Amino acid sequence: IEESVAEDIARFEESFSGINKRYRLINRIGEGTFSTVYKAEDLEYNNFNNSWDIDEHSNRKWASPGQRRRTSKRPHYVAIKKIYVTSSPGRILNELDLLHDLKNSEEVCPLITAFRHMDQVVAVLPYFQHRDFREYYRDMRISDMRLYFKSLFIALKSVHAKHILHRDIKPTNFLYNPEQARGVLVDFGLAEREGTDWHQCDCTLPSEERRSRIAHSHYAQTQQAGHQVSAYPKNDVRSSRRANRAGTRGFRAPEVLLKCTQQNTSIDMWSAGVILLTLLSRRFPFFHSADDIDALLEITTIFGRKKMKETSLLHGQIFETNIPSYSENGHSLEKIILWCTSRSGKDSTGAKIELEDDEKEAVEFLYRLLECDPTKRITAEEALRHPFITKAFE
Ligand code: ADP
Ligand code: MG
Repeated sequence: IEESVAEDIARFEESFSGINKRYRLINRIGEGTFSTVYKAEDLEYNNFNNSWDIDEHSNRKWASPGQRRRTSKRPHYVAIKKIYVTSSPGRILNELDLLHDLKNSEEVCPLITAFRHMDQVVAVLPYFQHRDFREYYRDMRISDMRLYFKSLFIALKSVHAKHILHRDIKPTNFLYNPEQARGVLVDFGLAEREGTDWHQCDCTLPSEERRSRIAHSHYAQTQQAGHQVSAYPKNDVRSSRRANRAGTRGFRAPEVLLKCTQQNTSIDMWSAGVILLTLLSRRFPFFHSADDIDALLEITTIFGRKKMKETSLLHGQIFETNIPSYSENGHSLEKIILWCTSRSGKDSTGAKIELEDDEKEAVEFLYRLLECDPTKRITAEEALRHPFITKAFE
């Protein structure tokens, strides 16, 4: 391993006294915004015949080095997640608490145990052998995608059944092993329980009531009075809107970008849709925006102005843009995938190139994930019953 990594490991072992009595740190495998993750060998695993159950571990003291009798030859690997000390205690507790709730959930990487030394907290998870998304996303066949998403939706179904939003569904948080066609969901650092800090949003109102609220809005009245809303108001008198927008750029659902104040588990399904779009178009990252407004405009490029206006109104927001290049109705996802895979021309007989039949089936499913109205978007449970996924079982 690199010298700088070896130094980093040495520093960690030094500062977190006692960690090397129980674990032998092998390598650094992840370095994110919120943590550093190391691969390690659990030196006591065989002594205790540990299962992946946190309750068995939580009261157990670290064994002394003399006790380090290794009964079996097979080493047992773990992932040690060192959460940056700049994270608030509340936030760290939230991640561990949710992982604890999800310990028996299918395709969710279970928490083995957690330790604290001074201000440093580490979470210990079973090491999951996987491959980097960048290595395989260009080569996945539709049949491979069915298996990938079957595994991801099993994970999301079990998380959503507990009314937990993951909030950060993206390839680096779903560790996938293409050879086994199995993956595990990791990283509950941004996850939250449904209903946390909820305020009424127009999207949950019956459509009649929503329409009448819009008709009486300040915006509608200035429009009726003949004032063109041509620029951003200089003195905006509206109260500012606050909503959780945590997540990763390019994977955020429209309602997250539009600051919906009643976001639910369906935001994760949109993010899964972005992964499927990435695989079908063979472009990663597919969306590449600088900020939320940019992200909304990227979505507008695909779905068109009309759809974005409707979607904004759902959440009591007005969508206006003076950029002329956005078309009213956008473009079909079929067309976008053909463009991205350089098949937008005609074939040798002069006929327009079309998607393959199984790709068409995938696109039909993709429309159910990238549904702008969260109340109409497919759920994880429904997705597992969708023909696109059930074919993976055949
Ligand atoms: P962060 O909050 O910093 O993004 P993650 O929990 O997503 O932390 O972990 C970061 C990276 O570490 C992952 O993308 C993955 O590469 C690696 N990793 C995390 N957990 C495991 C695990 N259980 N097995 C193998 N690798 C893991
Ligand atoms: Mg992560």
